[in-house]
Amino acid sequence: MLYPHRAPVDELILTVLSQNTNDRNRDVAYGRLRERFPGGWPEVRDAPADEVEAAIRPGGLSNTKAARIGEILRALGDDDLAWLETAPLEKARDFLTALPGVGRKTAACVLLFSFGRPDVPVDTHVFRVGGRLGLFRPGGGFDEAHDELTRLAGGDPDDAYELHVALIRHGRRTCVARSPRCEECPLRRMCPWARAAVARHG
Ligand code: SF4
Repeated sequence: MLYPHRAPVDELILTVLSQNTNDRNRDVAYGRLRERFPGGWPEVRDAPADEVEAAIRPGGLSNTKAARIGEILRALGDDDLAWLETAPLEKARDFLTALPGVGRKTAACVLLFSFGRPDVPVDTHVFRVGGRLGLFRPGGGFDEAHDELTRLAGGDPDDAYELHVALIRHGRRTCVARSPRCEECPLRRMCPWARAAVARHG
């Protein structure tokens, strides 16, 4: 069930911190950042990059992420992004993806988790599982996958959330990257990837 938290800048920074790391390290880095700068995002924005970098070090790639966080916060200025809740979805998405280093996944996380806007974030698990299940056009890329899943969600925020969560969970537990556990997968009989594997190996 989706519970929008209406803290879009928090979600934006959290998603930057989630890049190339696991949820635990992301959360440690985020917690340390908030602890180190109790004055909030304006304080982070105006802080020396090396102090931000030191705070988020547990999340990895801290140099790059500190620079990115500073760029985003400076680009936002005093904008708290509250207006994204009611702006046309495409306009809201375009605004976010025009921020430094912000792609479709990050934009969709902000829109879905902050405001319950029906945009589906596609991470590597979602992309892999959806691709194997034939939901995406082969070679279509991440942006097209975002468009397709968002279309499938049909404008329903709960469906967008469930699609995102279910595909991630399936990708972590069963449809793993290297050796998907097709023999125990309930989707096996409708999965083009599994059928092709049977055709290849018998
Ligand atoms: S059958 Fe195999 S490839 Fe298809 S979704 Fe299930 S685990 Fe993934």
